[in-house]
Formats: sequence, C-alpha cells, structure tokens
Amino acid sequence: MTSPLAFSGKRKHYMGEHTLFSIGAVLMGTSHPCMTCGACCACFRISFYWAESDLAIPEGMPHVLTDHLQGHFLVMKGTSSPAPRCIALEGSIGGKVRCTIYEQRPTPCRNFVPSGEDGRAENNRCDMARGKWGLPPLNAACWNRHAEKG
Ligand code: SF4
Ligand code: SF4
Repeated sequence: MTSPLAFSGKRKHYMGEHTLFSIGAVLMGTSHPCMTCGACCACFRISFYWAESDLAIPEGMPHVLTDHLQGHFLVMKGTSSPAPRCIALEGSIGGKVRCTIYEQRPTPCRNFVPSGEDGRAENNRCDMARGKWGLPPLNAACWNRHAEKG
C-alpha cells in the first residue's frame, strides 16, 4: 500500500510512519499519557489510502468522517486545515481525550508511536505536537508513572 506520506509534499507537518496515536492507548489504559494529550490529532494532516475505508471493506474506517484528498487518498475531516483537529477526536487537548473510532482508525494513527514508549526512541513528531499545545515532551518519569499505575 502506498504510504500516506505520498501526499505530504505540500504541507509542513504530516502524520508519518511514526505518527498517530496511541490515542489508541486512550481506550486501553487509564494512565497512559496519550489519554491526557491528543496533541497529534490536532497537529497533522492525516491521509490514507481509500481502501482502508468502509468504501472498500465493511469494517473499514468510516468514510463519512473523511474528505477526498486527491487520487486514491482520503483525509480525516478537520485535519487538512491551518488549525487541524481530527473530527474523530473527543475531548480537550491536554485534558481527557478519546479517539471515537479507535478500532477503525487509519494506518497513520496506528503507526504513531508516543515518544519513548516501551524504551523506544524519542518520536520528535510526538514531542513537536505536544509542544505546539504547550505540553512538555514525554520522558522516563511519565512512563514510570504509567507503569506504576497500570
Ligand atoms: S502527541 Fe504523543 S503523547 Fe500526545 S497523543 Fe500523540 S502520541 Fe500520545
Ligand atoms: S482517527 Fe483517532 S487517532 Fe486518528 S487522528 Fe483522528 S482522533 Fe486521532
């Protein structure tokens, strides 16, 4: 499948292969840092191949939440603007947030890794998104708190 990055040439910020959420995590663990962030859902344009949608597969991403981008690509409504915010994001950035289509979220969202999760490298796009919303980068202390609380 073609990468959503194929259409990333005209804008400054995109959800790339290290991109969106663990907002997935939003639905899983109550102390996960993404649950009180959501910055990356309000920072990048989120585009993906149309065949991920329910236009192609019944259980796919609801296409009514998307706009046509170009060619075979869709974009999450609300993310292709100077002040992006995904239509599927519920809550306040930096407060309690939730992806309302978590199970069907598109590939860019599934591939996004929060900075430093599970001892992995920093994700500077996560750091950048948080910074845009006045949130500090995730650090070891954040993950330790998460591990303690479960
Ligand atoms: S910006 Fe980082 S911490 Fe915030 S929701 Fe996205 S992945 Fe999680
Ligand atoms: S689909 Fe969900 S995870 Fe992806 S940008 Fe929208 S709210 Fe965030």
